[in-house]
Amino acid sequence: MKEISCKLLVIGAGPGGYVCAIRAGQLGIDTVIVEAGKPGGTCLNVGCIPSKALIHAAEEFEKVALMASGKSPLGISLGAPELDLAKTIAWKDGIVSRLNSGVSGLLKKAKVKIVQGWATFRDGKTVEVETETGVQVIRAETIVIATGSAPVELPFLPFGGAVISSTEALALSEVPKKLAVVGGGYIGLELGMAFAKMGARVTVVEALPRVLAQYDAELTRPVVKRLAALGIEVMTGAKAKGMSQGQAGKGDALLVESSDGKSLKVAADRILVTVGRKPVTEGWGLDQIALDMAGKFIRIDDQCRTSMRGIFAIGDVTGEPMLAHRAMAQGEMVAEIVAGHKRSWDKRAIPAVCFTDPELLTAGLSPDEAKGLGGEIKIGMFPFAANGRAMTKLGEDGFVRVVARADNHLVLGIQAVGQGVSELSAAFGLALEMGARLEDIAGTIHAHPTQGEGFQEAALKALGHALHI
Ligand code: FAD
Repeated sequence: MKEISCKLLVIGAGPGGYVCAIRAGQLGIDTVIVEAGKPGGTCLNVGCIPSKALIHAAEEFEKVALMASGKSPLGISLGAPELDLAKTIAWKDGIVSRLNSGVSGLLKKAKVKIVQGWATFRDGKTVEVETETGVQVIRAETIVIATGSAPVELPFLPFGGAVISSTEALALSEVPKKLAVVGGGYIGLELGMAFAKMGARVTVVEALPRVLAQYDAELTRPVVKRLAALGIEVMTGAKAKGMSQGQAGKGDALLVESSDGKSLKVAADRILVTVGRKPVTEGWGLDQIALDMAGKFIRIDDQCRTSMRGIFAIGDVTGEPMLAHRAMAQGEMVAEIVAGHKRSWDKRAIPAVCFTDPELLTAGLSPDEAKGLGGEIKIGMFPFAANGRAMTKLGEDGFVRVVARADNHLVLGIQAVGQGVSELSAAFGLALEMGARLEDIAGTIHAHPTQGEGFQEAALKALGHALHI
């Protein structure tokens, strides 16, 4: 049994863990990171990056298919396109593998020692790692738990065979003819829409009365319209109940109880279950250190400290929002705290993007949350139908909405739905972090023609004098 000691041990090399280790290394802290899988975690290997690669391929295919149908308003026509999904997946795997090497390279450059294997706590300062060459014991002054999250499995639809999670959906070699998606959250809709564009007949089954139910109906309307335009059947208020298996792998169906209590069968070659993600809190000896929990998540304070001295936790294992950039920001902060810097979590906005079609972006408070603060608020909304750049991109459906306090015009929240609005997230986040007033946004010169002008116009609208509407 080999033993090493270090100042900082990070468990898990997802976006939270690897960013924490890189920053710690940069600050001269003797750091070890343990990872059971590949560097980059869920985000890089089976989450953010591969899903966006697949979505991009689906968008390109849809564009070409529109041109081939002779219906493109751009006046371009060509022959019918073909999709070789196995090649698309190989292209996606190439991106993932380049980024895996990139993360390993950055860790090495920061002089972080990487240990490959599954880590288990022995006590609050000691971890055992099962490596290929035997058990490695690591003693550390400080430990950061960054073990991430995994897909939630439904007991009546266990993963295997036709029933898949997002991980398997991102590695299919053929487009399913009929795809049933259980769960109308962002992961289900991102993937469902991508497969519909690639030719699958998609049905989404959602137990709540609306898809993307955490967002207000006004914001999700363009996405709902597009789901219908893509021919995706959306069953809301409907519960998945199980599956019935056909003969020789054919004729499988998802069993559904519809909103009016009827039992239905939705034919499906694949059933994609996207009903949420659960923190990875099992199998690594949480019981050995008995940390305080907040429900299923590890409880942390505003410095990501757990209830045990010397142990921090970051990322998905600590709760919502389960987003890569939140994990990274926590990772960076914790490394600086370990180095003795004065840091704490004081974020006004963690932008969130649904890479649906069109994209949906939120930062800060929604109109309802802002109203809940008690004071008067102002809301300004600018539609992309009045934005020249959006028109040139066939992206008129959508808008930017700014929510501010009525008394001093402090911006509280910003939302957008529209083609490519994810790229506005930096501007939205910056405005909120810097405490912008409506006048700051309205008085900033935005390049023309860009969709960013919609942000400026929404602020002007809230002030009562939009120029282009
Ligand atoms: P993870 O990325 O889950 O990494 C944890 C790592 O810890 C894993 O590599 C795991 O192997 C390792 N590990 C766990 N336990 C041990 C152990 N005991 N020993 C050794 N190693 C261990 N977020 C966004 O912000 N934008 C998006 O567009 C987006 N798209 C997504 C799409 C999909 C399909 C999915 C599934 C997720 C998406 N997410 C997105 C969410 C994002 O992937 C997560 O929020 C992010 O990966 C969390 O980072 P993390 O560091 O907390 O954990």
